[in-house]
Parts: sequence; C-alpha cells; structure tokens
Amino acid sequence: MVRELVDNALDAKASTIVLRFLAGGVRLINVEDDGSGIERNQLALALKRHATSKISTLGDLEQLSTMGFRGEALAAIASVSDLSITSQTHDQAHAWRIDARSGELSPAALSVGTRIEVRELFFNTPARRKFLKTDATELTHCLEAARRHALARPDVSFSIWSEGKLHDQWLACPTAAQRIGQALSEDLERQCLSVSYASGAVQVSGFIGTPDAARARADQQYCYVNGRFVRDKVIQHAVRQAFADVLHGARQPVYVLFITVDPNRVDVNVHPTKIEVRFRDSREVHSAVFHAVQNALAPPRLASPGLAPPLPAPSGLASPSTWPASHYSSARQGSLSINEAQALWQPAAGASLPQTNQSASPYEEPANDWRLGRAIAQLQGIYILAENAQGLVIVDTHAAHERIVYESLKQALSGAQIQSQPLLIPATFAATPEEVAACDEHATTLAQLGLELTAFSPKTLAVRAAPAALAEGDVVALARSVLGQLAELGSQEAALALVSEAQNALLASMACHAAVRANRKLSLEEMNALLRQMEVTERSDQCNHGRPTWRQISIQELDTLFMRGR
Ligand code: ADP
Ligand code: MG
Repeated sequence: MVRELVDNALDAKASTIVLRFLAGGVRLINVEDDGSGIERNQLALALKRHATSKISTLGDLEQLSTMGFRGEALAAIASVSDLSITSQTHDQAHAWRIDARSGELSPAALSVGTRIEVRELFFNTPARRKFLKTDATELTHCLEAARRHALARPDVSFSIWSEGKLHDQWLACPTAAQRIGQALSEDLERQCLSVSYASGAVQVSGFIGTPDAARARADQQYCYVNGRFVRDKVIQHAVRQAFADVLHGARQPVYVLFITVDPNRVDVNVHPTKIEVRFRDSREVHSAVFHAVQNALAPPRLASPGLAPPLPAPSGLASPSTWPASHYSSARQGSLSINEAQALWQPAAGASLPQTNQSASPYEEPANDWRLGRAIAQLQGIYILAENAQGLVIVDTHAAHERIVYESLKQALSGAQIQSQPLLIPATFAATPEEVAACDEHATTLAQLGLELTAFSPKTLAVRAAPAALAEGDVVALARSVLGQLAELGSQEAALALVSEAQNALLASMACHAAVRANRKLSLEEMNALLRQMEVTERSDQCNHGRPTWRQISIQELDTLFMRGR
C-alpha cells in the first residue's frame, strides 16, 4: 500500500514526500507530496478502477504490456479503507478534497501537491483486519516499503512520522551511497563497494557491502529492475554465487543493485504487486549480475602503479610459485601437498602465482610504497606486523597464505577443461520426473560439466561419469544439485558455477592444509614475500572462510590509544 502511494507521488515528480502513520498504518496512512497535483475535475476519476492519467499516446499504450496494468491502486485501497485525496495544482485558486466513499468534493487548503489519507484499513473486512500484525510490525513493513523507494531515489527527500513523532528523515542527497548511509547505516556507507558493469542488454550498478558487512539475516538485500524494487531468484542466486568465496558460513551479503534491461526483455506482470519479474533470458541477467558483483569484490590489484611490485625476481630465492611447498613443507601435516593438489588439475604447475619481488633486500624499499607495508616482526608465530603509510598492519599469516594458495589453484584450474572420469560402478538414485526431464534436456551441458547421466528406468538415474576431482565424493548429491539448478534456472552458467563451487570447496580444503601453520617462524624476507603476494592476489582481504586476513591500525588510532594529542 505504501509502495503504491509513494509510486504515485514519484510519478507526479515529487521532490519531497512526507509519510505519517498512526498505529503502524492501520489507523492512518498519510502520504503527502509536492508533485504536480490532481485537477479538481480529475479527482473522482483518479478513484475509478482502470482510470489512469499516465497513458496519453499510442506509445504509452504499447508500454502497457511492459510496465504492467495501470490504474488500480487507488481504487483498490479505497475499497478497503476510508480514503480521501486532497490536491492542489499550480493553476487552481485553492486545493480540493474528495472523499472516496461519498464522492463529495470540498474546498481545502494545501500547497501544490497531493495528500492521500487512508484511514481504518480493512474496517469493512474484519477477517482481513484480524490478520494484521502488531502495530510495531506493521510500522516496520511501512518503513521498509518507504526505504525501498528511498534507496533508489536519493534525489527525493523522505520524512516519516509515527504517532506524531519524526521517526526517520532522509534528506535529498547527491549519491546512492549517501542514501545508503541515511537509510541503512553509516557504517555500511563506509564499508560498501561500488558496482558498475555492462554487458550486452544488461547494465548493473549500485553497491555491495564488503564481506565484513554481511549479516546474519538477508534483510538488507535490495535489487531494482528498471527502477522498480523486485525480489528475484536469478539475481539473488547470482549475487550469492559471486560472494560464495568470501562469505563466512551462513552470513548474508548486503547489497543495493540497480539492473537496467530493455523493457521488452522483462515481464513485470507475473505478480499482482509486480514485486516479481520474469526475464526473457535469465542466463544473461544471471551472468551480468554475477560478474558485476565479482568484479566489485575482486578488483585487479595491479591497477594502481604505485602499489605494483617491481618485476621480475632476480634472485636465488625460490620463486613464489614454488615457495608454498618448499618453504613450508613442514606445514603439510601429511595431507595433499600443493604440488599434488596442482597435479590434479591440468595444466598444473606452469599456471603459477604472480611474481613478487624477492630481491636481496626487499625491506630497504620505502615502506610507504606498499599497500600492506614492510614487515617488521612476527608475533607469537601467528601474526605478521608491518608498517605502512597509515600506520600498523597486522596480518593473520595462515589465513592470508591460505587465500593465496587457493587463488593460485583456482587460477591453474580456470581455462582448463573439466576432466570427466568414468565411475567403476555407476551410482544410481531415485529421481523425480523433473530431474529425469532435466537430464534429458540438458545432456550436452551435463557432458560439458563432466557429468554423464543416463536413465536406468523411468524413475532411476545413474551417474556414469563425474568430474575427475569430485569422482571420489558424493556424486549423487552433486548430480542432483546440478539437475535441480538446470531445471530451476535452465542456466548452464548456474550449473557450471555449482560444479566449480564444489571444486573450489575441495581446493579450499587443500589450500587450508597446504598453508602456513601457526607457530612457524618466518624470516623478514618470507614475511615481505607474503605481503607482496597478498597485494597481487584477488580477494586476499578475506581468507577462504570469509574471515579477514589483515587489519590496519592507523597512527591516529594508536595516538588515541595512548591519549597522545597531535
Ligand atoms: P496509476 O498510478 O497506475 O495511474 P493509481 O490508481 O495509482 O493508478 O492512480 C490513479 C491516478 O490518480 C493516477 O493516474 C494519477 O493521475 C492520479 N494520482 C494518484 N496519486 C497521485 C499523486 N500523488 N499525485 C498526482 N496524481 C496522482
Ligand atoms: Mg499508481
């Protein structure tokens, strides 16, 4: 309800919208705007079902199919409440008010704009009224509806009053990031990464919270298609997938994403309140959102010349591509070594880590040049302490190394074909009709994923071959989730992501075992090499489990700690 009323205010080009609620909106919802207003002789019409002022040309009419059917909201709200409209346009002597129930028109006082008052919601349908939640919960819903609009329109001021008190105020501001600060949290404004991506027919912009900002609940996930707030599985899935590597456990990412698609490529009429959409090509949208978020999470570190380590390494020390195994062989703890791990993937060792500077005296470099600074000491065999321009850097050695090894394994894998391995004994399972159908329909895709599936009986499927690296694992579970994904999203991309997710999980556990263990003494050279490598490794700010790998403590923070005025 709040959504429709604010929609109308924005349609009327309002720049300030004031919302007032009593009893969480059940007693009163009052939405007042400074938009263009409604003429006296149009007031009655605005309340008629299918009466809309928003279609005046043939072109508008064509848009009807893409924008959804119009002219229903006010009539629908009026049928379950006591509704009145007061409105003033720029050329009337004074405002007019219409009472929806009696149809009575009377003179009123209001500056240019419109006020819609909705009183006693569901007064005439006690059955529905009974389903209303507590006032506090209803107010939360109203606020959330306003927030969804506000995040998309930082150029519009919103004030929200409840029980006569100002509850929230988001004044017009120049950027979406600032609006995030106002309407979500100031911390988030500082912790968000900007997203900007275009591919073919789809553009993605907006912000994502850093993995640090992720939440226990999925309550700060906003996405908009062509300016309208939507809830969409394809988009949610693509974002989750892009975050898969950097999120800790069940943490939920935070995002405000604006997706622009050609209106002909999206159907908004699949849901009465238009909160769901259907894309003509969901794969195209999935891929654009996935890449948009992934790029924002892992910008190429070498972009800034000031931070780029000098290349190449002119020294007798081991090259970084070998040092995980040679420098830290003591850390292997009997599990797969990094070389063995790499050998699983073809081509293996060649696709190595980026080179870092291992020259004879790396720590004579000015500390300010390195993003993560110059190593000065190791603490308890766990943390590396380094000095950079901002102050002190503390690195969790194991976490950081784990990410570096993992990313290098992934890099070695990327581009390589997924190797399929026939199973000695095919694994059969009872399949649903949807799974059998998906198996039939997507045979080529499955083969590309290294999976060979055949129907044993109308209700039984058999896995005959699986990706080599995963053949030892639960191939039935893998097959089922891939089939489910293909059936649901019909997207090869999503299924491929699933397989690589499973492979990545495996790589991550290998990396964890191969990475430097705690209590291993490192030389300054080794520490510096690790820091330089972090600087050129994607996603190196988080370990594979989503924990931070390093923290900065600024000189200011240290000064505060010691109460030292500067
Ligand atoms: P729709 O927005 O789809 O046209 P509604 O039932 O929401 O249908 O509104 C009916 C009509 O009432 C609109 O077409 C518009 O002319 C008018 N209207 C409603 N709210 C406002 C407003 N806040 N400012 C100006 N005109 C409004
Ligand atoms: Mg409307």
